Amino acid sequence: MTTPTYTPGVQAYIDRGAAMIEAEASQRKVMRGKKFDTIAVHGLYNMEAALANQGSINEPAYLSPAQHFENSDHMEAALAYLMPSWTYSRIANPTLHYLEETLALLDGYGYDGEVSACIAGSGMAAIFMATNPFIVIEPTMPINGHGPAKMNIVASAKCYGGTFMLFTRYANERGVEVRWVRNTLDIDEWASKIDSNTRFVYGEMPSNPSLAVFDIAALAKLAHTQDIPLIVDSTVATPALMRPLAHGADIIIHSVSKSMTTSGFAIAGALIARHNLPSRVGPDDLRANFAAYVKLLPFRDHGPALSPFNALMVLNDLRTLRSKMDHMSNNAMKVARHLAAHPMVEGVAYPGLPAQPGYELATQYMWLADGEDDYGQPVNRYGHLMGFMVKGGAQATRIVFDNLKMIWRATDLGRIKSVATIPAISTHQQQGDAGRELAGLPSNLIRLSVGAEHSADIIADLDQALMKAAQPAAMTTA
Ligand SMILES: *Cc1c(COP(=O)(O)O)cnc(C)c1O
Repeated sequence: MTTPTYTPGVQAYIDRGAAMIEAEASQRKVMRGKKFDTIAVHGLYNMEAALANQGSINEPAYLSPAQHFENSDHMEAALAYLMPSWTYSRIANPTLHYLEETLALLDGYGYDGEVSACIAGSGMAAIFMATNPFIVIEPTMPINGHGPAKMNIVASAKCYGGTFMLFTRYANERGVEVRWVRNTLDIDEWASKIDSNTRFVYGEMPSNPSLAVFDIAALAKLAHTQDIPLIVDSTVATPALMRPLAHGADIIIHSVSKSMTTSGFAIAGALIARHNLPSRVGPDDLRANFAAYVKLLPFRDHGPALSPFNALMVLNDLRTLRSKMDHMSNNAMKVARHLAAHPMVEGVAYPGLPAQPGYELATQYMWLADGEDDYGQPVNRYGHLMGFMVKGGAQATRIVFDNLKMIWRATDLGRIKSVATIPAISTHQQQGDAGRELAGLPSNLIRLSVGAEHSADIIADLDQALMKAAQPAAMTTA
């Protein structure tokens, strides 16, 4: 192969681009030596970048859809992806770039390989962009020489309702066999479902809303023996509490709409991938840097770009992610213990309760980043999300839910404000009885996302609502 030659004008921009890449790589290296909070506060945005932006201390919002070029040589080099540039906001944008770099640094915290991120307009867009490249039909992969292989994907049945529906769509519309794993704790069940036609393994940890967990390192090892990636949705944990790349996972999904944007002022999603990941399909570029590959090609064509204004909302919330997750986790632990002992509660699902299946695995993987600096020793933090089952069935559950006075009734989570929902009639309504049975979601389950209010006030609201459901039962027995 001969190396292409460019006119001296274009070559000058390519050289300038190489210097820009080098400068950014050295800043990335500087930030990789910093603590979690410092990364969350600054990302890659430094004094030099600020001086090129009229001195702005915060990352500026580049709301302009397109980049102006110095001349035709500059434009040619940029449009051929030969130098860093942003061209057009559907493909790239400086504000989005700073957010992507921050997310890559945060999920790469404690992992020593290269990591890149691609931000999308929602968590679902990120899940689609992260999975779709692996279920392409490759006619070069015949079964016994008779056309393309029948492909399958292996995924935890305990996952977000939207993910369940998307994968079901892959099955119904494209003939992809979806092999649901019921007991995520059973590594043999995962192993029995993965074979030479599996394209990726997908798990959510802790899962929304059943808080299921799995052994990330063991599952990554299993996927890698088949040369396929492990994709982990760790929305509920956030990198402040769990960093799966360091345990062998290949691609991380976040609904950035949730805890990462605690204020709730933006819907966003991200895929964060380590470089040089395994895949049976796709070009070498896909394996070398999956996030960059997605961003420059399929993402460009599908167009699920995030608004730069929303990226700024996310950056603003991300700066205090760790302290908020610490506080909300502490609150959640108090609420979970209280509910577990409550006479009107049948059971509580919370990864931090020793009675919870998978408690040991949650304890193995969920650690507050830099917790030892605050508490003198590493500390487990189990997040803000829990589920509890109300005694008395679906009707009593509605009474409790309808009597909440401060905790919001909404299909939302990860907020600074406490929020509750009944999954069977909301987030997981569309997957039907069979789908809910598969995911283990009873009709008396309330999903509670604990916020940053004082724990005593959250508990008081729950107590008075639970009392309301207790009264009619007491009356009928009297
Ligand atoms: C909300 C959620 C999603 C989907 O994210 P959106 O930003 O709402 O599209 C995916 N995974 C989990 C675990 C979620 O909670």
